[in-house]
Amino acid sequence: MIYFDNNSTTQIDPEVLKAMLPVLEQNYGNASSKSHAFGWHAEELINIAREQVANLINAEPEEIYFTSGATESNNLALKGTLKKGQPVASSKIEHSSVLEPLFSLKEINLDLIEVNEKGILKDFDVQNYNLISLMLANNEIGTVQDLEPIFSKAKKLKIITHSDATQAIGKILVDVKKLKVDLLSISAHKIYGPKGIGALYINKNLLNFSPLIHGGSQENKIRPGTQNVAGIVGLGKACEIAKERIDLDQKHLTKLKKKFLELLDKNGVKYKINGCLKSRIPGNINLAFSQTDNVKLISKLSTKLAISTSSACLTDSSKPSHVLTAIGLSEKEIKSSIRIGLGRFNTLQEIEKAVILIKEAI
Ligand code: PMP
Repeated sequence: MIYFDNNSTTQIDPEVLKAMLPVLEQNYGNASSKSHAFGWHAEELINIAREQVANLINAEPEEIYFTSGATESNNLALKGTLKKGQPVASSKIEHSSVLEPLFSLKEINLDLIEVNEKGILKDFDVQNYNLISLMLANNEIGTVQDLEPIFSKAKKLKIITHSDATQAIGKILVDVKKLKVDLLSISAHKIYGPKGIGALYINKNLLNFSPLIHGGSQENKIRPGTQNVAGIVGLGKACEIAKERIDLDQKHLTKLKKKFLELLDKNGVKYKINGCLKSRIPGNINLAFSQTDNVKLISKLSTKLAISTSSACLTDSSKPSHVLTAIGLSEKEIKSSIRIGLGRFNTLQEIEKAVILIKEAI
């Protein structure tokens, strides 16, 4: 079985697992227990992980708040800052964990910025908003947005900015200081870490931030509840490895992607790339195979090759992908589109095998 669904989730890196196991087996203390060494050790492990996460995005450790994943981070960022009646800008291609909380806040004035046929944001008037939430890299078509000019303008106007960087961190360089972003969401399981753990970066100068849930004083009261120490250690290690390997991973994934497209051409498989090949996270390919029904294709391959139609968070939905719709694809084109997410552990041999499998299935 070949796994090409790395935008949905990734295999855990063996080094991440190695870092997590002793926490589950021996160092099981509660980081809030101040009266014994078990607790002190757990707290120390969390502090190390906080530094590892901060290092990956050029933040300060005290600006990192651990959550259960990017869905929670996105909800926390938006609901923690937005007030009644405020004008908010987001985009038509955001993940459901940004769009749904925004839709649930009935008393805000929401504008969803359009994208062009490549998935690149169209120009908009930054000054009209109190908060701007834009993703760095898209989870379906992989498009990377140039957010720095937008967020720099927003900063000058004291507008709060949030970015869902779930698909970007570890794949492209993300520097919160350069990006001039106030809030940034992260998830471990997209970067070879465990599921159910993530973080929200909150710029230390951002005041008046409210928690979503109330309880103890963990995570500076922004995210109360006993911390998931093993998960946090896993996220920290995954970030440390991502920082070390970013160039290597980029080179490897670019090579695999190039080979995949070359072999499709060589084998006479007709396809059309969805989105922008230039400004894209390295492992993502989203493409339409003409005359092919994507659901049938994927189900034919499902025991040999793991690929998907779109976001795993939307697979229950009978509606066509809002991202592919936003870039102007027809219903027919959407129904023939698949997403391939290559990852660190994929090989050239797998690419060769996958192309043959796809050709046969078509
Ligand atoms: N945002 C994006 C862009 C994503 O791809 C995902 C994962 N599908 C999420 C948010 C949600 O992340 P999590 O699974 O950690 O809640």
